[in-house]
Amino acid sequence: MKKLLCLFLTLVLVLASAAAFSEAQPEATLFTPGTYSGEAQGIFVPVKVMVKVSENEIVTVMVDATGETPELGGIAAEKMAMSIMMAQTPNVDTVSGATVTSKAIIAAATEALEKAGADIAVLDANRKDTGNSGPKAEITIDTEIVIIGAGGAGMTAAIMLRQAGIDFVILEKMPYVGGNTTKATGGMNASETHYQKEQGIVDSNALFAADTMKGGHALNDASLVAVMANSSAGAIDWLDTIGAELPKISFSGGASVNRIHAPEDGSGVGAFLVDRFSAKLSELGVEIMYNTAATELLTDADGKICGVKAEGEDASYTFKCKAVILATGGFGANEEMYTQYRPDLKGTVTTNAPGATGDGIVMAQALGADLVDIEQIQLHPTVEQTTSMLITESVRGDGAILVNQGGKRFTNELLTRDAVSAAELEQEGHYAYIIFDQNLRDHLKAIEKYVKAGLTAESETIEGLAEQLGIEPAVLKETLDTWNGYVKDQRDPDFGRSTGMNADLTTPPYYAIKIAPGIHHTMGGVKIDTSAQVINTEGQPIPGLFAAGEVCGGVHGGNRLGGNAVADIVIFGRIAAQSALDYIK
Ligand code: ADP
Repeated sequence: MKKLLCLFLTLVLVLASAAAFSEAQPEATLFTPGTYSGEAQGIFVPVKVMVKVSENEIVTVMVDATGETPELGGIAAEKMAMSIMMAQTPNVDTVSGATVTSKAIIAAATEALEKAGADIAVLDANRKDTGNSGPKAEITIDTEIVIIGAGGAGMTAAIMLRQAGIDFVILEKMPYVGGNTTKATGGMNASETHYQKEQGIVDSNALFAADTMKGGHALNDASLVAVMANSSAGAIDWLDTIGAELPKISFSGGASVNRIHAPEDGSGVGAFLVDRFSAKLSELGVEIMYNTAATELLTDADGKICGVKAEGEDASYTFKCKAVILATGGFGANEEMYTQYRPDLKGTVTTNAPGATGDGIVMAQALGADLVDIEQIQLHPTVEQTTSMLITESVRGDGAILVNQGGKRFTNELLTRDAVSAAELEQEGHYAYIIFDQNLRDHLKAIEKYVKAGLTAESETIEGLAEQLGIEPAVLKETLDTWNGYVKDQRDPDFGRSTGMNADLTTPPYYAIKIAPGIHHTMGGVKIDTSAQVINTEGQPIPGLFAAGEVCGGVHGGNRLGGNAVADIVIFGRIAAQSALDYIK
């Protein structure tokens, strides 16, 4: 049955009656009448196109993409054949989610039409209206699993599913991958890893779990936290196998030991992982359906997941499937939604990607999913307010301090994010400056981005820097001198800071960035169990519905530690994929 469907989808013959395309036929002779064929490499196999032409018209286009990704290759074949017919040129828009197959179809059609004597430039110049203004196509696709969202969690799950050889579709509502994951700058927390062992760092899964619970004010779901800690070293090993190594370990707020794993070259972990995940997905021949937003989850009479409805740019889709993995991220970019749960946050800037609008939460709720900690929204303490750019925790972790407009420190800068944010909000004007030196800039690649964006004030002297910030120069000088003394003694009698004190701030030039808190992470979301199954308000799993990443609640409790978002998406992305595979079997 499945085979038959694939054949139907991938071997498409579009016959145009002379009547349908005869209006305003070009007078000139464009082709030597006959039937011609062309071929071009798709993802897996050569794609074949056969065209039948009259003297001045493309009459028939037949695309054989059998052997390409069955679902999307089939759609590409159908849509592209129709588009070429309608436009009367091979140069038509590619099909979202099947770009490689689409390009192969264009190349093969071009070859066939050139054999027919066509000048493609002339066909392009005579391009016909493709009728895009008409009603949207309604397309139904059979597959096994639908992943909704191509951020870190969705891409992790997609790699796992492809490696398991299962048919699936991955939808992404934006024209690009990555979501909030791209913005993760610090690293990934993991314990008992081979990197820690090689570097002589003593850590344990129990300590990682305890730190996470403490950081989250013990509001976290302890069973999810235990799974995260216990699976973290395995997740680091898995990242190694797909070329996404995170060997550089440092300190991050709320951790008892050096546990945050980052890329070797000092680049931001999120952009690094998204890049590596994308490369792996391309290598595996996975195509993401971009600009396609899931709008509804479908269930059968027994309440089991049986499909997803989605809206693409030029088509509405119904995916028939056995399981869904929700990987839609959080809702930090949806002011209406976060103010519904936290009216006090109205008007706060957000560091979130535009796709973080809570769609997955709303869709799961419609099926009765339970929500946990939905009002727990994390403010990040170091957000540049004019650009919403997040200044990574590593700047403080590597030795920067925070001062207020009075030029004084006011907190242990490496307390948890909620505590540092609260301390900033108590300062005059509700903002602060993060201060660092050239030595720190030399060691942390992320800083170049801030300098390039023009966010930094810079001076050869501390006094000069103070003047630029409108701070009393002598006060800032004294604050820095005092701090450098504390670094020398490895003791901070003012605020009890004991980490991020490996280097003093004595190498000019000196830098400052004005920062304040911004909405960073929505810790609440749909309730899942340790198998990443979504749980309904009656405490029962919704059969076939799995979720991973920021769309879920429970892992982070009342406050997420830096480095735990990436741990969450990789670890639970893998678990959700495995559970969905087990379920459909
Ligand atoms: P996580 O860290 O949990 O992976 P991200 O924010 O990195 O979350 O990624 C979530 C992705 O899901 C984003 O790329 C976002 O654009 C996408 N997304 C959100 N809602 C939908 C939807 N309704 N349909 C398809 N993709 C969605």
